[in-house]
Amino acid sequence: MQSPPDYHMHTPLCKHASGEPVDYARHALALGLTEIGFSDHSPMRRDDFDDWRMLNQQLDEYVENVRRAQSEFPQLTIRLALEVDYLPGHEEWIRDLAARHPWDYFIGSVHYVSDDWAVDNPHKLAEWKHRDPFEVWSVYFERLTMAAASGLFQIIGHADLPKKFGHRPTRDCTPLYEQFLTAARQNHCAMELNTAGLRKDCQEIYPSRALLELAFQHNLPITFGSDAHAPTEVGLNFAEAIQLAHAVGYRESGRFRQRRCELVKF
Ligand code: ZN
Ligand code: FE
Ligand code: FE
Ligand code: ZN
Repeated sequence: MQSPPDYHMHTPLCKHASGEPVDYARHALALGLTEIGFSDHSPMRRDDFDDWRMLNQQLDEYVENVRRAQSEFPQLTIRLALEVDYLPGHEEWIRDLAARHPWDYFIGSVHYVSDDWAVDNPHKLAEWKHRDPFEVWSVYFERLTMAAASGLFQIIGHADLPKKFGHRPTRDCTPLYEQFLTAARQNHCAMELNTAGLRKDCQEIYPSRALLELAFQHNLPITFGSDAHAPTEVGLNFAEAIQLAHAVGYRESGRFRQRRCELVKF
């Protein structure tokens, strides 16, 4: 049985990851992976928006670093991608980014529920003290639905990221999930199983089993990602993710080349 590709990996250009793309590629080969994809945090239109992503002028350097890994490891398929932050109003900027290089896919991720609060930022944990989890989930999934509906993304990243620090709504979130999944299905978006959640307080893959089961009912393709910020994290906990996907009914995952999806058995 072939392991699915690891489609979510970062590089030091985002300022909070270590190891060059060649190091991630070497590690992937040692694990027996046949395909990976780099999806580092994309630049914002304004470089001073925050401090955990590559600068606008570093985009070409990022592409060169990925190209270097491709030529050094021709036996490994290496995709060129970005993890792009979705915020309402940023669509035109994302379209500009898309036109600058021949990307294989964009992972659309929502981190920000407002211009100054990224729900996964450990320095902003205090925000949660005066927030009701269900309200955060509502805004988050409203934005995730807009991201899916935008048609700008091939994959939606870590779909229930707000659970990272262990916050959970008590109310039923099914209607929020349904709305998001319907938009994703209509716009040919896949959803990733992101194993980084297992390494956070929530100790659970993004998304939850409940959300993944609904995604399967909606016939939504999936991809796998470790969200590696270091070479040793490549492919981490893929056995658990594959087991979960299997348990829910999935037998195939998406592979992307030049933004086109092909379903392959895993
Ligand atoms: Zn990151
Ligand atoms: Fe992310
Ligand atoms: Fe990431
Ligand atoms: Zn991420």
